[in-house]
Amino acid sequence: ETRRRDNSQFHSYDREMDRRAQQRIDLTRELRVALENDQFELHFQPKVDLATGTMIGCEALIRWAHPERGMQMPGQFIPVAEQSQLIGPIGEWVLFEACRHLREWQEAGLDLVRVSVNVSVDQFRLGDFTHKVREALETYTIDPAALTLEITESVFSEESETLRRQLNDLHALGVRLSLDDFGTGYSSLLYLQRYTFDEIKIDMGFVRRILDEPLNRNLVSMILGISEVLGADTVAEGVENTAVRDALLELGCRIGQGYYYSMPLEVEDFRWLLEKHSRLPLAPPTPTDTPL
Ligand code: C2E
Ligand code: MG
Ligand code: MG
Ligand code: MG
Repeated sequence: ETRRRDNSQFHSYDREMDRRAQQRIDLTRELRVALENDQFELHFQPKVDLATGTMIGCEALIRWAHPERGMQMPGQFIPVAEQSQLIGPIGEWVLFEACRHLREWQEAGLDLVRVSVNVSVDQFRLGDFTHKVREALETYTIDPAALTLEITESVFSEESETLRRQLNDLHALGVRLSLDDFGTGYSSLLYLQRYTFDEIKIDMGFVRRILDEPLNRNLVSMILGISEVLGADTVAEGVENTAVRDALLELGCRIGQGYYYSMPLEVEDFRWLLEKHSRLPLAPPTPTDTPL
């Protein structure tokens, strides 16, 4: 009797696996169609000088305008794209599209200095990523220093000679490299020494709890110290209010991103923001800077 029960549990577990596998196959097929039919779009979120509140760059974030299910966030499809190698062509699209927009803004005289693009480790595994970056920069005559590649920390969970070579090549090209979600992954101090980063992004998890407990504040302070030793800029993710902004400034963090300044915006809205705010602050600067 127990055996029969175990058996039926096994079967329902099996069916659940099948269902998931099928979902992944369906999603993969839909992603291929999405690429062909141009259903992806980039949204842009400002990177801000915390002391003055002015924009110093932006991060491109992918969205999928699904014909039936509406706007899909990257968490809903990027993992599947990574498993199916579709991340290659999708990542390439993101890279070229970000450079294309940057070129447009530059031609319109909007003085945004930089655009950041998120890159998956799988894009490095496919081998020709450095070549694609060079091609995108040439196609849109972009100064390499205006492009930052954000690489999530989990990339460094494995020792890889090809990865190291590609990061070195990108660096030699003059592109900026950023370590995303710092503090959540696997990177050891050894990796930080082995690869060169121009920027470290403090994961939102630490930033948002900075006021809650002294430990978090100390961790953020420690990350800022590591960045300084490496000669990298530090960017705080997820700045949602003035209290957090002030705490960050007090600890010596100069750059941030978050809903306090702006949500990621679709390109028309972001362009409007650029036109209106390329010199004006996005939010009031620190109280000490503002005459009452
Ligand atoms: P990320 O690169 O760490 O991006 C930051 C995420 O935090 C974005 O979510 C952004 O919308 C969100 N965010 C920004 N400010 C705030 C805030 O103040 N509060 C809160 N709660 N959230 C904030 P999103 O757009 O859903 O992207 C999630 C992740 O998906 C990204 O994390 C990145 O790892 C990945 N991703 C996004 N676009 C791409 C892409 O084009 N290619 C690849 N490979 N990955 C991408
Ligand atoms: Mg990022
Ligand atoms: Mg991040
Ligand atoms: Mg993240």
